[in-house]
Formats: sequence, C-alpha cells, structure tokens
Amino acid sequence: MLDDLRSDPASSFSLREDVERLCIRNLLASPEERVFFKDRESRFLFVSAGFLAALAQGRSLSEVVGKTDFDIFSRPHAVAALEDEQRVIATGQPIVAKVERETFDDRSDVWVSTTKLPLRDEHGEIVGTWGISRDVTAQVVAERALAHQALHDPVTGLANRVALMDRLAQALVALERRPGRVGLLFIDLDNFKDVNDSLGHDAGDRVLVEVGRRLTDVARRVDTAARLGGDEFVLLCAHLNDDEDVRLIGDRVVRAIRASLTIDGRDLAVTGSLGVVVTADPQVEPGELVRRADAALYSAKRAGRNRFEVFDAGIHLAAESTAGLVLELAQAIERSELFVLYQPLFRLDDGALSGAEALVRWRHPQRGVILPDEFIPLAEQRGLIEQIDSFVLNEACRQLAEWTRDDDQWDDFMISVNVSGRQLRDRGLVDRIAAALRRHQITPSRLCLEITETALIGELGDANQVLESLSDLGVRLALDDFGTGYSTLAHLQQLRTDILKIDRSFIAQIGGGSRDREIIAAVTAMAHALGMTVVGEGIETTGQLDNLLALNCDEGQGFVLARPMPPADVAALRATGRATLALHAPASAQPA
Ligand code: C2E
Ligand code: MG
Ligand code: MG
Repeated sequence: MLDDLRSDPASSFSLREDVERLCIRNLLASPEERVFFKDRESRFLFVSAGFLAALAQGRSLSEVVGKTDFDIFSRPHAVAALEDEQRVIATGQPIVAKVERETFDDRSDVWVSTTKLPLRDEHGEIVGTWGISRDVTAQVVAERALAHQALHDPVTGLANRVALMDRLAQALVALERRPGRVGLLFIDLDNFKDVNDSLGHDAGDRVLVEVGRRLTDVARRVDTAARLGGDEFVLLCAHLNDDEDVRLIGDRVVRAIRASLTIDGRDLAVTGSLGVVVTADPQVEPGELVRRADAALYSAKRAGRNRFEVFDAGIHLAAESTAGLVLELAQAIERSELFVLYQPLFRLDDGALSGAEALVRWRHPQRGVILPDEFIPLAEQRGLIEQIDSFVLNEACRQLAEWTRDDDQWDDFMISVNVSGRQLRDRGLVDRIAAALRRHQITPSRLCLEITETALIGELGDANQVLESLSDLGVRLALDDFGTGYSTLAHLQQLRTDILKIDRSFIAQIGGGSRDREIIAAVTAMAHALGMTVVGEGIETTGQLDNLLALNCDEGQGFVLARPMPPADVAALRATGRATLALHAPASAQPA
C-alpha cells in the first residue's frame, strides 16, 4: 500500500485515506506519544493509548472523556495548561515543543515536551485543541545534572570556580548601583594533605564536606561559598557595609574551621589560613581581586597559619617579588647559593658546649643573605622543601664528620637539623636520613631532628610511623618551638620526643612572676618525668638565663649565648674548651 503511494502520490484518494488512517492508528497506539484531543473548554474528547498508560492510572478511555486536566494533574499545572489552550484557540497559533513540568497531587513530577495545536472541524472552525506530549524527564534530569556539574563542586556541592567568578563579576557590577564593599576570602586548609595521606581520600572528602558546611553556615544569603579544588575554598561576600565587616567574617571563618572535627571517631586538628581582600571599586578586575586574596593568603601562611590576613600595599609588594623568588629558589640549590650556619647549644649547669643547630641561609646574588623565615614557607608551598632539607642534612652530617674525624674533643657533640612537617608523611625521609648517616659515618644518636610542634599536632597515623622509624634508626627527636601551637601536656606524653625546645615567645615572658614562668616550670617537670631534655630557645638576656637555670631547664640556645655562626667559629668556640656563659658572639656570626 505504501509502495503504491510512494510511486504515485496522487494515486487514488481512497489509498491516501487508508494511509492516513494507518498513520493515525499507529500514532494513537504508540506507548511513547501521548495524544489528546480537547473541546473548547479543555474537556477531553479523546486520548491515545500512550496517554492512558502514562496518565490515566488504570482509567479507561470512557472514564477520561469529558474530564479535564484538573482531574489528573495538580491545580497549578491544570491552570497553566488551560491558559495555553485558550491562547491556542484564541490565536489559532500552535505551541510547539514546550518543555514543562507536569505536577501531580498524588505522584512525582515528570518533565514533558508538549505541542498543542488548534483542532478544526471540516469547515476549518476551531472546535478545541489537540496535542502530543512526550516524557523527557530523563533528558531534563541529565541536562540539569550537567548544568549543575558545570557550576558546582562535586564533592561539597558548593559553587565551583566558574560560578564563583560569575558571581564575583555580578557583585562588582552591583556596586555601581548600590555603593558598599565586596569581600573575597580565600581559604586554604593548613594540614589537609596530612588528613588525606594518613586517613585516606574518603576521610579527606568528608573533611572537605564539613568545611564546606561550616562555610555555608557563616555565609549570609547573598554570599557565595565556593570550592576551587583541592583544599581551597572561597567565601564571596557580595555586599558589606564597610571594610571592617570583612574582618569579623574572617575571624568567624577561622574559628569555624578550627572547631573540633571528628572523622571515623578520630579528632582531627584542622585549621585554615585566609587571605582576605575587600573593595569598594566596581571597576576592579575580578581576576585582580583573586590575585590579591591569594597574596594575602600566602602572607597568612607565612605568619604562622590558622589566621586571616587582609590584603594591603605591603602584601602587594611581597606578592610581586614572590613569583620571581620561587623561580630563583629552585635554582639556588644547584647554584650552591644555600649555606648553613650553626647556632651553639650550651648546658646551663656547667656552660659546656653540647651541640649546634644547623640553620639554613640563602646567599641571593642581588638581595644578599635571606633568612629561612622568608623562603622556607615558600619552599614548603612550592614543593622545594625536601631538596633544601636534604641539602642541610647532608651538609650538617658532613660538617660533623669533619669536626669529629681526628678529634675526640667532639665526642658528645650533637648536631641538630630542622625537618619540615611537610616531610613527616613521607616514608622516603627515613631512607634519606639513614643514607646521610651512612655516607658520613655518623653515629645516629649524634644527629637530632627538630620537628615543630604544629607539624606534629595532628598526630596522624603516618607521621607517627615515620617518627617511630626514626627512633628505631637511633636518631634523637626534638619537639621544636613548643608553646606556639595548641600544646597540651597530654601531647607531650603522646609524642615522646627526646628533647623539648621551649619557644622563644615563652622565654621572653619568663621574668616577673608571670604565668609563663609557671607554665615553663610545669612543662619542664613533666618533660623530665618523661625522660626528656629541656632546651630554652631564643635566650636574649642574662636574666632569662638565670630564670631558666632556676627552673631546671637543661640547655640553652640564644643570642645572649651565641648567634648562628659559620663552622670555623664553632670550631674556635670548641677549642676554648668549656664555654663560660659569657657572650660568645664572634663578629662573623652576626646574621646578615
Ligand atoms: P628554629 O628551628 O626555632 O630555629 C631557631 C631560630 O631562632 C633561628 O632563626 C635562630 O637564629 C633564632 N634565634 C636563636 N636565638 C635567638 C635569640 O636569642 N633571639 C631571636 N630573636 N632569635 C633567635 P632562623 O635561623 O632565622 O630560622 C628560623 C626558622 O626557620 C627556624 O626556627 C626553623 O624553623 C626554620 N629553619 C631554619 N633552617 C631550616 C632548615 O634547614 N630546614 C627547615 N625545614 N627549616 C629551617
Ligand atoms: Mg629548630
Ligand atoms: Mg625553634
């Protein structure tokens, strides 16, 4: 039949009618297409099998005819459909492939694509409407998921970078209409890598989700909390009244992140550093704001983390020079621009020189000698720290070997080397240290590794394993800068290092019956009970020295005793025999 029609489209009228009938019958039988015919009052005249199957819930055709959308759909949907149909009837214009949501009172919504046309009688009069609709829920859901994915972070559900930049641009434009401030807070978790490395990515993701939730709690309705990737979050404050508001929010975010967090029954010490920028200028480039926030973040990291820093002109200058500095630092090692000074340690009871701490310096070709506080945080951030610490470790071991080779005067002398917390999750660290000891034939107990308290606070599994392996190796471990983190006496008991170095900030407050004095007394007693040696760091006055001696502190290190100095000066100091606790500050030892 179809072949006849194809060969001669104008063949017989009855043949055409047969084909038309066949097409209509197929359409009306199709389970996918829902076909409906309605009168001018939108009462059903006829519906197809597909319509009955999808929407009539077991009702037969005769039960549907005469009914309206109000009997099937939710009232709002029925009202909207009626309006559309009245428009089709009034204008004679179809509505083509309108994607809309069908809502019901008694089941979940579906998305449909519907075409509605005028229904005409044999005279061309509009007697109602007819249409076809098709369920497109699967496509719509997929499209929405894609759109959501394009603008959201999959782990936390927060806005992603694209969405953030869009809203930042909008917030700046809005400043033109309504003067105020836009604030941008860049957040980087301080110790997230530790969590990931030691507890696994699953736990890591849960930390990210929790941080995201806390950020959302701090945010107001007009703000946007976003995750840029990794452990970087952003809070965009779209409308602030003045510059100070951003400080309040920064403070709230720092505290929200550091609030106790338990994952798998383990208490994690998660903290965050924030770089904050605030502007009243609608003309500023969004990208420029991001760069400033990033620079302020870097400055917060350098200032010791777990804090926020607001961008200002000083940070601007620092940021400009930082980028260049990273490149130069990468080359500094190869170009032998790094060198090591040694700061002597003395026993406080008899004034004997007991050892020295290796402290790295960078002789920059243009800028002169740069101190570690300026480049170690940078190296940690940019993955250069392992090379630097390895260099210092090898150099210190080589130096100790040289000093002790033919001279039994040095027998009880210990060399201390700082190890960045970043390396504590790295099992390669143990191998590198063992190799350095072997290469220079150093008795392990003569090498001390100084690890800062903040690096150990998380006391996460892997770090403990590395610490254990290091103890097994026979090297000593020192807890450096004690008192600058959230130190508790319980930590002391758990960490069980051989040496405890009390931070300079405590020593500075030691005089005049202060609370710090009591704390030092308690810490020293506890450390002694645990068999640890206690070292006072950064001793600058003889008064502090006397106090430390009275508090039973074992050893001291500080400018009043000796500054960091080249190896030859240490040798000279050693040659004088027992050091008196007078000032040992050879001219060459002054820090540059
Ligand atoms: P740290 O390990 O606590 O080292 C002691 C710091 O205090 C040294 O600063 C030292 O010069 C300074 N200091 C000693 N006595 C006094 C004093 O009486 N008064 C004052 N104001 N300061 C005193 P430096 O050499 O600038 O090192 C700073 C920090 O950089 C070190 O603190 C350490 O955390 C880090 N660092 C140094 N060398 C290395 C290294 O090779 N690797 C790593 N990862 N970090 C290092
Ligand atoms: Mg140290
Ligand atoms: Mg220290």
